[in-house]
Amino acid sequence: MHMHIDSGSGSGDGVDALKSKIAVSTRILVRERLIGPFGHSSARLAGTDLVAVLGHTHDDVKDLALTDPDDVVIMDLDGEVVEGTMEAPGERFMHTEIYRARPDVGSVVHAHPMHCIAFSMTDVPLEPIWHLCTLFADGVPVHRSAVQIDNPERGRAVAATLGSHKGVLLQGHGLAVVGASIEEATVSAVNLERSARLQIMAEGLGALSAIDRGELNSDLLTDGLSLEEYTHTQWDYWAMEVT
Ligand SMILES: [Zn+2]
Repeated sequence: MHMHIDSGSGSGDGVDALKSKIAVSTRILVRERLIGPFGHSSARLAGTDLVAVLGHTHDDVKDLALTDPDDVVIMDLDGEVVEGTMEAPGERFMHTEIYRARPDVGSVVHAHPMHCIAFSMTDVPLEPIWHLCTLFADGVPVHRSAVQIDNPERGRAVAATLGSHKGVLLQGHGLAVVGASIEEATVSAVNLERSARLQIMAEGLGALSAIDRGELNSDLLTDGLSLEEYTHTQWDYWAMEVT
């Protein structure tokens, strides 16, 4: 189905720019072993109830490291594709129901990174131990179900577990990380997996020493690095590497 989607909401990226960023996000997530062949990122078209999401590519066996804007489809919050020739992913309802529940969320990354999944299998919480991962200082709840999020009811349940947090682990399955932008959600998902790996490494060395709560401000550890700088410094660098 084809329709023209007006991108002129006045703020945020237009549809073409957003498709390009989904492609870059996908390439970064593949390189970091967060996704492939399963997993997908999405972004809300600013000011609309439409979402750009990586299309369902499994049947084509295309290397996701070569994802381009044509691999992205536009869907509504019922999960119906309104632009694009591919299907939306089976777990699209994780995205749609988080967008419904969280007007502040502009992007959702769903991935299956191994070190984060290990935490979902235990009662050991992810701790704010690394200065590039303090966005998650208020904790990452675990959704105690391993089923595919393939209907709206299951999507709503994930959104409820996520609550107001920046991310949620899905037991024995993966995670969903949210952000105001595709750049922020992508960078945050990568850093959460890196932090999970660091925590496992550190716990192998001895008793864990988390960053003092008093050193955690509302955004990041250091006042000298704004959320904007944190996001775009890493996004720009990684985007350069994968394109
Ligand atoms: Zn999944």
